[in-house]
Amino acid sequence: PSPHLWSDIQVVPPHAGHKKVLVTGAAGFIGSHVAEALLERGDEVIVVDDMNDYYDVRIKEGNLAMLREKAKKVAQQAGKAHEDILSIYRGDINNETIMRSIFDRHKPRWICHLAARAGVRPSIEDPLLYAKANVLGTMSMLEYSREYNATNVVISSSSSVYGESESTYFSEAEDVNEPVSPYAATKRSGELISFTYHKLYGLKTTNLRFFTVYGPRCRPDMAPYKFISQVIRGDVIEQYGDGTTSRDYTYIEDVVDGVIRAIDRPYPYEIINLGKGSGTMLKEFISLVEKHVGKKANIKFMPAQPGDVPFTNADISKANKLLGYSSKVPIEEGVRRTVAWFKESFDEV
Ligand code: NAD
Repeated sequence: PSPHLWSDIQVVPPHAGHKKVLVTGAAGFIGSHVAEALLERGDEVIVVDDMNDYYDVRIKEGNLAMLREKAKKVAQQAGKAHEDILSIYRGDINNETIMRSIFDRHKPRWICHLAARAGVRPSIEDPLLYAKANVLGTMSMLEYSREYNATNVVISSSSSVYGESESTYFSEAEDVNEPVSPYAATKRSGELISFTYHKLYGLKTTNLRFFTVYGPRCRPDMAPYKFISQVIRGDVIEQYGDGTTSRDYTYIEDVVDGVIRAIDRPYPYEIINLGKGSGTMLKEFISLVEKHVGKKANIKFMPAQPGDVPFTNADISKANKLLGYSSKVPIEEGVRRTVAWFKESFDEV
């Protein structure tokens, strides 16, 4: 798209200084990395997560344990108590009693809403579960943010909203009103509801559309985790489709950088792609995994799955202009680092 599409948007400079940030879903993959980076730079972090069993809860407990350790280290260096920089709550964002007590107690002004039921395929099995967590949950977060005068709300959306878009590069200027899975529909709903909160109440919200995020601590239900662990173990890989489907795999460090840039810049209302900026075919991804693991993959070919889109390519020029974001980790380097993490973390693989 031509740059004039956002030439009229006033670029918001970063808000410097210490922040108290409520991170929802911080026991999860992206949330734990964002919370860790916020602690590292000296912010106070409040975490809420319901620790649901969408995948092994021990992974989420491990992420929280890592955050506690990080807080202890950072607090010690700063001569503070770790309780003053990290508070962790187990609770559903739809539980009003818990959420009000968190907002009453901490009065966070910076909200980073990453809690959600993720995953396209399981949303087709249980759409209502996705609606409760992602639609009602996001609306609840917006409502508390409004009532407690939040300065900025960053919300995780997804590339899945682009559905079966035929554009070579997905741009925020596209119409995205034909979501092809319940998951995508719930993510699009979050974007729409936050527009209403901006329009009616002046709440500042930025919706970030993530594109297939991978890296250390990645989600076990996602392709990168499955492929790497299966190649390491010599297990069969189920490859859906002919391997030419492509994804804009984005390394976690880039996503964390983009999320923090968005937290720091309270735009009145924006939707911004956060991707690498180019797709990689499934078969190329698998051959990079083979190269870095040092083993051949044992592939079983399966039919393409309903709800899966043929390709995702992020146009990241808006993120570049509004957030100063650029992707820094190339696919091969990201795969190399992720494989290294697997080898360090799992004795059994
Ligand atoms: P994740 O499942 O690892 O993390 C989400 C966390 O939210 C989990 O720890 C979960 O327990 C928590 N959660 C879910 N429902 C909750 C509720 N009702 N109350 C409180 N906590 C709840 O997933 P992730 O990959 O870290 O994704 C983070 C966000 O980014 C999600 O909104 C997801 O939809 C979005 N996203 C992720 C990707 C990706 O590639 N990982 C791509 C696009 C969008």
